Amino acid sequence: MEKSFHMTSGEFRAAGKQLIDWLADYYEQVQRYPVLAQVAPGEIRAALPPEPPQARTDFQQILQSVDAKIMPGITHWQSPNFFAYFPANASEASVLGDLLSSGLGVQGMLWATSPACTEVETHLLDWLAKMLGLPESFLSSGSGGGVIQDSASSASLCAILAARERATDFQSNESGCREELVAYTSTQAHSSIEKDVKVAGIGRRNLRMIEVDREFAMRPELLEKAIEEDQKAGRVPFFVCATVGTTSSLAFDPLEAIGAICKKHKVWLHVDAAMAGTAALCPEFRYIQKGLEFADSYCFDAHKWMFTNFDCTCFYVADRQTLVRTLSVVPEYLRNKATESGAVFDYRDWHVPLGRRFRALKLWFVIQHYGVEGLQFHVRQHVQLAQEFLRWVNEDTRFEIMAPAPLNLICFRLKGDDALNEELLQRLNHSGKLYLSHTRLQGKYTLRLCVGQTRTKLEHVENAWKAIRAEADALPGRAQRQD
Ligand code: PLP
Repeated sequence: MEKSFHMTSGEFRAAGKQLIDWLADYYEQVQRYPVLAQVAPGEIRAALPPEPPQARTDFQQILQSVDAKIMPGITHWQSPNFFAYFPANASEASVLGDLLSSGLGVQGMLWATSPACTEVETHLLDWLAKMLGLPESFLSSGSGGGVIQDSASSASLCAILAARERATDFQSNESGCREELVAYTSTQAHSSIEKDVKVAGIGRRNLRMIEVDREFAMRPELLEKAIEEDQKAGRVPFFVCATVGTTSSLAFDPLEAIGAICKKHKVWLHVDAAMAGTAALCPEFRYIQKGLEFADSYCFDAHKWMFTNFDCTCFYVADRQTLVRTLSVVPEYLRNKATESGAVFDYRDWHVPLGRRFRALKLWFVIQHYGVEGLQFHVRQHVQLAQEFLRWVNEDTRFEIMAPAPLNLICFRLKGDDALNEELLQRLNHSGKLYLSHTRLQGKYTLRLCVGQTRTKLEHVENAWKAIRAEADALPGRAQRQD
């Protein structure tokens, strides 16, 4: 027999079944693990063999190493007791779709390199636009369209680049940027906007962080004032990023007012709805995106709250020509008849990387498995659970709520100093029973509890609240019960 180290088809079948069983067991038992990995820096690496294996390792042994060496260093994002940051939830349907994508191993940089990879993605993003009630301008049947990217950070970068080219009549792509371009966002925007502005060569000093109101939403009158001041000084306002659901407190910028200002001053409006965008699956929550019809681009992360494992950022533009013209470079070796016919999308021109996986498959599996109805059901359930938690916190006079909480994020703290709240958070996370994260609101250290994990049910939120109250009781003499 010819010598080979590859897995045989028989070995692959057996190992694959074993891995799916392993994952099914993991999902069944995930709540038994401490949510936050309890290891010290360097501990995981120290347990790995110093040198790579020379000989083939049996699959059984590989799986055993996962249990012994990897699992202790996993923070369990898929635990129903994970309430930190924003979720990165997943589902069995999505994992299977992703496995299929890996198995097919398609590299869909051009339509021609795998037509289904492109066409399924275009079709699904149209489906999603309808499912979320997005403006028609984002549909591929008109001048717009959607694409899947790796992250909201990358999507916002592409929006900035396209905005830069539109503002300079595509001259900054030719000879560098001559004008002093200025971008705007709120003080509460995600840090990725500042990073993107740096990457795009705009310069951090040319990003204006507009102040917010008491509800942490951008103040449009201050945005307009800043734009006009820059115009008077000979600078060129070119880009505004508004947020639908800020990372810190889930604040919603007033899109209608911001959109009208952008239209008046001919500034590109990008809307970042990283997590909260998923809420729009339910018509009763669509008020959060009122005014989105003003936007030139929009993104939300299906990999946060839509049961689709990382990575799956859905990025839409109203004018795909501008985006494509901004990013397209055509070397001889990529030329092909389909591209030249103008009848196809080549998604390599819709983002920074050339190569791309068939990410639409996992989204397709998710949408088919749950149906719109199923997705709506689980999003509503998360919001209801968060609202229950909000009610309990409100009833306990030792705590205060720090921001409006209409959806699935509750920002709260013990009345008292920052040290007390820091200690509370540390004790909770160290207990392994749940995982929360923090932010700073109104200058105060604030705890955040976000309900968005696939398997989170009432009992998990109840247990979280029990643990929070118990730790508050146990804090030495500082948070006495008042109820
Ligand atoms: N925008 C907002 C509002 C976010 O909350 C986040 C992450 O939590 C991001 C952007 C960045 O997301 P990504 O990891 O997809 O780049």
